[in-house]
Amino acid sequence: MKKITKLGILMMAVAMIFSLAACSSGKTTTSTAKKYVIATDTTFKPFEYENDKGERVGIDIDLLAAIAKDQGFDYELKAVGFDAALGEVTSGQSDGMIAGMSITDARKATFDFSDPYFDSGVVMAVSASNTTVKTYADLSGQKVAVKNGTEGATFAESIKAQYGFETVSFPDSANMYEDVKAGNSAALFEDYPVIGDAIASGVPLKMMGNMEAGNSYGFAVKKGQNADLLKMFNAGLADVKANGEYQKILDTYIKK
Ligand code: GLN
Repeated sequence: MKKITKLGILMMAVAMIFSLAACSSGKTTTSTAKKYVIATDTTFKPFEYENDKGERVGIDIDLLAAIAKDQGFDYELKAVGFDAALGEVTSGQSDGMIAGMSITDARKATFDFSDPYFDSGVVMAVSASNTTVKTYADLSGQKVAVKNGTEGATFAESIKAQYGFETVSFPDSANMYEDVKAGNSAALFEDYPVIGDAIASGVPLKMMGNMEAGNSYGFAVKKGQNADLLKMFNAGLADVKANGEYQKILDTYIKK
């Protein structure tokens, strides 16, 4: 009995090896190359958004595609929202993120950043019909809409005690804009290239006050992880800047 069992196991093992071999020899194009998972935001036009045809497009999306092509790496995009993308990378569920993400010293504790690829900064916006909020001091006693995990939120938090306002958090830019349009919040803080694009596309908001000194955007990986991916991103970024592709992408999405 014992012998038969042993023989049976041996035969099964042999059969498995043969079927595995048959399987892999049948596939001539089996790819062993790593497919990176890259997280991004949902609505952050002109960096990432869905166009009329339901395709995910934008500066970040096209830039990543151009860099991946230049460097010959494969990836899958995960549009989860900004705050969720931060979580994806820090938990290791995604290998990297490109989401109009500002390179900040605080974030350098948890992320490694690529070379900067776009200069940005934070600005206040109010409803187009608002005639009372002109400076931060006018926000006293009011609500201010912010987007979870962003530099705009960090900035608003840093001045709210001084100016006496309260913050309300939203998971994405679209809902944050809605809250100000509806008059629930008196103002919002957003990156100026993004709010500028929204206003130019007809969203009834207007920028107010100064553009706060901003940080540039970078591609990010978890600190100490995926150094190969970061290296390829930087090499690809230099290539697409040198061959004019980067400028072409900017010209597609930023109308002068
Ligand atoms: N640039 C801002 C940040 O890094 C906002 C990014 C975003 O909302 N996608 O916090």
